[in-house]
Amino acid sequence: MVNLDDLKKYCRGKWFSLSDDAEKIYAAIKKRNGCCPCRVNDVMCPCPDHLEELELNRRCKCGLFVANTYDPFPSLLKKFPDLFDIGGYFISCGYDKGWKDIVEEALEKIQKLNKKLDECDIIKIIQIKEKFGGLRIYTNIYNDDAELILKDAERKAKYTCECCGSHNNVTSKGSWIKTYCEKCHQKLQSL
Ligand SMILES: [Zn+2]
Repeated sequence: MVNLDDLKKYCRGKWFSLSDDAEKIYAAIKKRNGCCPCRVNDVMCPCPDHLEELELNRRCKCGLFVANTYDPFPSLLKKFPDLFDIGGYFISCGYDKGWKDIVEEALEKIQKLNKKLDECDIIKIIQIKEKFGGLRIYTNIYNDDAELILKDAERKAKYTCECCGSHNNVTSKGSWIKTYCEKCHQKLQSL
């Protein structure tokens, strides 16, 4: 059965952490012999669904995990109010502050591109996230020019520390792959 320390370790270096209620929720997990309190009996904690739930709601269903405080979405929405398919296919924005400029530069280009497009071809952002250490930006429709812009941003992110934005000694590694500079990798190891 997983213990609270294992769960703390599991969160290390990730974009989410144990919530303030973790101890209370862990008591419920213990009572259920290690099973997730909001699932059927034989699903052990951490359950297979928590990542998806965190991406959707910034917390998992039972409230054990919450997304870390850096949330790029409010400022992105302010800067690019028409670029997100809110109420449609929009899912989430989740990445760390080191990639802020790269994402915003790409969105500015998409916004400019949209001005040249017909209403029915307008590109909307549905998700921006970090996956396997890489930046991923997903749109509602495919467009060749947009693809070039987004691929360029994803390429730049490969050489930029997701944590601090540095370009020095940036590598993608770790048990949970992160694209970090050497300093940030070391910080992560020593947590
Ligand atoms: Zn760094």
